[in-house]
Amino acid sequence: PTYTKDDIRRIVKDENVQFLRLMFTDLYGTIKNVEVPVSQLDKLLDNKLMFDGSSIDGFVRIEESDMWLYPDLSTWTIFPWGSEYGKIAGVVCEVYNSDRTPFMGDPRNNLIRILSEMRELGFTDFNIGTEPEFFLFKLNPTTHEPTTNLNDQGSYFDLAPVDLGENCRREIVLELERLGFDVEASHHEVAPGQHEVDFKYADALHAADNIQLFKLVVKTVARKHGLHATFMPKPLSSINGSGMHVNMSLFGKDGNIFYDESTESKLSQDAMYFLGGLLEHARGFTAITNPIVNSYKRLVPGYEAPVYVAWSGHNRSPLVRVPVARGASTRLELRSVDSTANPYLAIAAILEAGLDGLRNKIEPPKPVDRNIYVMTEEERHENNIVDLPSTLHNALKALKDDDVILSSIGEHLSASFLEGKRIEWEAYRQDVSQWERKQYFEQY
Ligand code: ADP
Ligand code: MG
Ligand code: MG
Ligand code: MG
Ligand code: MG
Repeated sequence: PTYTKDDIRRIVKDENVQFLRLMFTDLYGTIKNVEVPVSQLDKLLDNKLMFDGSSIDGFVRIEESDMWLYPDLSTWTIFPWGSEYGKIAGVVCEVYNSDRTPFMGDPRNNLIRILSEMRELGFTDFNIGTEPEFFLFKLNPTTHEPTTNLNDQGSYFDLAPVDLGENCRREIVLELERLGFDVEASHHEVAPGQHEVDFKYADALHAADNIQLFKLVVKTVARKHGLHATFMPKPLSSINGSGMHVNMSLFGKDGNIFYDESTESKLSQDAMYFLGGLLEHARGFTAITNPIVNSYKRLVPGYEAPVYVAWSGHNRSPLVRVPVARGASTRLELRSVDSTANPYLAIAAILEAGLDGLRNKIEPPKPVDRNIYVMTEEERHENNIVDLPSTLHNALKALKDDDVILSSIGEHLSASFLEGKRIEWEAYRQDVSQWERKQYFEQY
């Protein structure tokens, strides 16, 4: 919704809002907030609130730490979980440098930059609908620490009493609706203890904001039910991991430009070019859509996650699927992404990949409608099917080689991202794991 400053002042009074939670997202996708009492409202509305950015991951150095927070009033929301002192409202902010220029280390500012590139090409909106999956694990009843005991042994679309997460999931849905989410479905996923909640697509910026708020709600509600919710892509090695499929479409003033009634597939030529760009840059953007060491334990054969760069209109295994829906719902579904991605960075990278396809008229390869997992390496080679990066290390190499994707997150963010992730990979590489001791300790 759009609010004026006066709307906000009135709501604050009518609803007895006492605290303002100013939210933004750091480089690694963690939601951060600065909480101020309602006495600061006028300052906030006039873009006159400062905060110290030096302690935020991937932000700035100590010597340039004073930054402004500019609220985006369209994200204004009152949290349903009030405090005993009055209600708490939240608003997503953009970070500005002390000289009042947009701070380009702020992932949301960066996405705004890419969206304006998109508008220059004549499009109005990039619409994004995500399908985040997560696991519910039991908390230890005495210490309240998370355990690795799953909450249930249910499976896809199972019903209670097998699905013990049902009450928790139901409360998640209710809280989301109170926050203004349009929840389309929620169901038990394939793995025990695994769930999915789908909400209606939104324009890229608000879709990214929604993902951040969604994760916060899921974790908060789970805790109330004595459960730990995790978006870690592969918490247990022998069962499916959690992804976050990203459904996308590009809109112009006459609606969905991916739809074209006159072609046999009812997909437009622009949809094909966008798809061509997505596949062309898939290896390059994987470090951004799958940014942690553990992400790559999900992208393996046998667990319904994509491993190869291919697309299909029929089967559900490839990287990009074209769901059968047409008309306004015509969309591409990217299936590799997981919820550990910073949504602002991931959406910027995905959009830039697609726009590159449009600018350079990149034709996608032929669709692969058979099961890629039973093909031999030779057959894959004949069909020009390449692998997604198999580790964070390989993904970072592919990112460094892809100037289009690097430019999609800009100089500041790409430099901090590559450096932070290099350190993360090095730490992992040097760790001697339980698996190695089990495998080698006695044998050698
Ligand atoms: P699946 O069949 O892969 O399980 P879901 O029904 O769970 O798909 O989720 C589909 C998602 O796609 C929802 O978030 C929905 O709002 C979104 N969606 C529908 N139409 C569009 C569109 N035109 N652009 C982007 N997302 C869309
Ligand atoms: Mg789904
Ligand atoms: Mg579904
Ligand atoms: Mg799913
Ligand atoms: Mg899906």
